[in-house]
Amino acid sequence: RRIAEADSVAVIGLGRFGSSLAKELMAAGTEVLGIDTDEDLVQSHNGELTQVVRADSTKEEVLRQLAVDEFDRVVIAIGQDLKASILTASLLIQLKVPVIWAKAVDDQHGRILEQLGVHRVIYPEKDMGRRVAHLVRGAAKDYLEIEPGYSLAKITTPDLIVGTPLGQTTLRRKHGVTVTAFKHADETWMNADNETVLGHGDSILIVGPTDRVEAFAQLR
Ligand code: ADP
Repeated sequence: RRIAEADSVAVIGLGRFGSSLAKELMAAGTEVLGIDTDEDLVQSHNGELTQVVRADSTKEEVLRQLAVDEFDRVVIAIGQDLKASILTASLLIQLKVPVIWAKAVDDQHGRILEQLGVHRVIYPEKDMGRRVAHLVRGAAKDYLEIEPGYSLAKITTPDLIVGTPLGQTTLRRKHGVTVTAFKHADETWMNADNETVLGHGDSILIVGPTDRVEAFAQLR
C-alpha cells in the first residue's frame, strides 16, 4: 500500500526523536510512513503509524520500493549512525525528494548534511538544551527563541504593569518588549491590545529581543 499523498511524511529512524515526531504528526492528522532497521522498534510502532516498515534506508532499491521518492516531505531522524544518516541524505537528494529535513547530533554532522543539500537541518538536543537553560533560570514558564536574538516567552504579569491599560504603559519604549496575548486565571488565551488591563497572576506572552525578554521576565 502506498501512502505517498499530499499530506504525508516519511520518517526514517524511529528512535526517541523520530518516534515522538511520527506520533505527533499522526495526532495532527498527517499520514506517516515510519522506517527503521530495528525489528523491535518497528513492532512497537505497528498500528500507531499509517505504515511501519523494517528497512535499511541506505539502500536505493529499498527507498524506491517504499516509494519514498514520491513523498513530498521526508525526515531523516537518524542521529548516532553518522554514516547511515549521510548515505540516506545523499540518496534522497539523488531521488529528488522535494523537502528533506534531517536531525544532526552536532555542528559537524549538520554541516555535512547542509553541504549535501538537505533543506532543513535540525538540532533537537542543542535546541532543547538552550530552551531548558532559559527555563531552569526560572524566569519564564515557557520560552522559544524564534531566531538567535529574538524570543517569545510565557511569564506571569509583573506588578509594574498590573492595572494599567497596556497602551498607557511604556513597555515597548522602556523594556523593548510587546505583550501579544494574555490569559486570566482559568480562561482561554486572548490577543492583547492597547485597552487590555492585566491582573495579578495573569499569564502573558511577550516577544522581543532575547536580552530584553530575559530581563523583563526577571521582573516581579
Ligand atoms: P534518538 O536519539 O532520537 O533515539 P538515534 O540515532 O539513537 O536517535 O536513533 C536512530 C534510529 O534510526 C534507530 O532506531 C536506528 O535503528 C535507526 N536507523 C539507523 N540506521 C538506519 C538505517 N540505515 N535505516 C533505517 N533506520 C535506521
